[in-house]
Amino acid sequence: MRLGIIKTEKVRRAAEVVKREMFIPGKYEGMAYADTPLPIGEGQTISAPHMVFIMDELLDLKLGHLVIEIGTGSGYHTATIAEIVAPSSELPHKWGTVITVEINSVLSTQAYFNLREAGYSDRVHVINMDGSDGVPLRTKADRILVTAAAPDVPPPLLNLLKEGGKMVIPVGNPGFFGQDLLLVERSSGKIFRKKVTEVVFVPLRGRYGWN
Ligand code: SAH
Repeated sequence: MRLGIIKTEKVRRAAEVVKREMFIPGKYEGMAYADTPLPIGEGQTISAPHMVFIMDELLDLKLGHLVIEIGTGSGYHTATIAEIVAPSSELPHKWGTVITVEINSVLSTQAYFNLREAGYSDRVHVINMDGSDGVPLRTKADRILVTAAAPDVPPPLLNLLKEGGKMVIPVGNPGFFGQDLLLVERSSGKIFRKKVTEVVFVPLRGRYGWN
């Protein structure tokens, strides 16, 4: 299965290097490598590994990128992104950065400690706020990942996307089966949206989320 999903060496390496068991509650340790979502508390879940790697491939992540992630959850997906834009195998001056935003303070704190324990606090910043409304940044991001289903692409996130940048975001009503996973690109000043597949995600909350 993974062979079909993982297309590049950098994503394969991230899948191997990041230990999923460090990001899930102890009672599910035996299931860390099952290809299924698992509860992480607060009614939220860590995504199934195949969904993490489908999104990482779509994002077309490169060494040195600045990436914004909305929906930190456990921090696992964050760590796989960090391992691609700022791999442990490269010197820190080549590293990119991941800014990850989580609306739930309990999960945000838990993810901060998970990421620190796994060795990523020098490449990842965890912020506890409503990420649907953007992130206070004076620069724009190369890549944006949203891991909760939005009613539509939040305008503040589009504004944070660099020329040439890409965003991966599930869009659609969480009450129904199947939201659209979109690849959004900003190119020559225009925005291009492409539906990739159907997915099932927890709802995005906050100003541009479902309330
Ligand atoms: N990628 C995560 C799973 C994310 S689940 C992992 O690997 O574990 C989606 C997360 O998005 C949940 O933790 C939820 O609390 C968070 N979320 C929902 N709305 C949000 C918002 N507006 N801003 C930031 N985080 C949000």
